[in-house]
Amino acid sequence: MEIACLDLEGVLIPEIWIAFASKTGIKEFSKTTRDVKDYDVLMRYRLNLLSEHNLTLSQIKEVIETLEPLEGAGDFVDWLRERFQLVILSDTFYEFAQPLMKKLGFPTLLCHTLIADKFGIIADYKLRQADHKRHAVLAFKSLYFRTIAAGDSYNDISMLNEADAGILFSAPDNVKTDFPQFPTAKTYAELKTEFLRASNRELRS
Ligand SMILES: [Mg+2]
Repeated sequence: MEIACLDLEGVLIPEIWIAFASKTGIKEFSKTTRDVKDYDVLMRYRLNLLSEHNLTLSQIKEVIETLEPLEGAGDFVDWLRERFQLVILSDTFYEFAQPLMKKLGFPTLLCHTLIADKFGIIADYKLRQADHKRHAVLAFKSLYFRTIAAGDSYNDISMLNEADAGILFSAPDNVKTDFPQFPTAKTYAELKTEFLRASNRELRS
């Protein structure tokens, strides 16, 4: 059996903070790691913004509940689960992802957690483990699972490198140029083809 490791944002669902910015009209939320390189600085900035706008966890979840997975993502997840054991490896937080995972049939998700007080004010965040995507792939390998991983951005590269096969999905040009060793896919149809190609088993299309 092989394990399919998928990134979440930009692969199955929109970038949550960018979608959150457009839903709330608070455009400051749309800053990403491309604008602020230090993830901790970026998260502190976001947490400050949430508190400035008095946004509690339940209000944030309400906004996220109005978001939808990317078109075709649900069917793609079903297709993948018929052929592989699917594990989603994401740098988002359970509290943010949950409403969207419901729309994808709750596949297994490994990500991080937020720390909220009893009023639902988000005080802090906790990374489960640094570079956890790569560590998850390493752990699966130690259990003698073959892994095929797909992601769209720089935070996926160590996972793609560690996996038996890595695929870039819907990646921006700079990522594709920097890592030409990985096959690329733009649509779910192309991504299915790449998964079948990377698999060492005879699988029906
Ligand atoms: Mg992503």
